Amino acid sequence: MKRVVLKRAASRLSESQKPRRNSRGNRNSQFRTHNSEFIIPDSYRVGIGSDLHRLAPGRQLILGGVKIPFDKGPVGHSDADALIHAICDALLGAATLGDIGRHFPDTSPGWHNASSLVFLRHVGKLLDEAGYKIVNIDSTVGLEKPKLAPHIPRMVKKIASALRLKPGQVSVKAKTGEGLGAVGRGEAVRADAVALVQEVKS
Ligand SMILES: [Zn+2]
Repeated sequence: MKRVVLKRAASRLSESQKPRRNSRGNRNSQFRTHNSEFIIPDSYRVGIGSDLHRLAPGRQLILGGVKIPFDKGPVGHSDADALIHAICDALLGAATLGDIGRHFPDTSPGWHNASSLVFLRHVGKLLDEAGYKIVNIDSTVGLEKPKLAPHIPRMVKKIASALRLKPGQVSVKAKTGEGLGAVGRGEAVRADAVALVQEVKS
């Protein structure tokens, strides 16, 4: 709907008002109308990531790089940190660099019980090399028990530090499953994340 409105607005513009190419050759979607101006730089890109791990007794519960005391933890090849895996996928997706399985295959013995913070640091480096800077990350963890709120500030700090971001660029929220589904029955941990990145390469 918005696209149609913008297209119509563009068709009414004179040559000097039409979108121009920026220094990188990309076209900024900039339109002037009688009483408003839209600027949608094409260099911004968004990515989404989600992850789900089964919980089992005897596994360490690690989320956002923080060890949380509990009698169950996620099952996986690495430390199975669902929050960091979802964030990695959101960042890789925003930069069209594939997904976490492509960069860290669970068939590789090198990643057995690996800290997912290693993955996150590597993903940050990949984005940097590809010419993207991270604008912000938002995420939600679904876990029935235990309460995550007391641990969130440390998770934010760890994630921000691994990506060389300010804590204000990283948001972590927590929700229970309201007793429904695998999360609600305490059988799984789920995480969803979105990331906004900006192309900075010349
Ligand atoms: Zn995972």
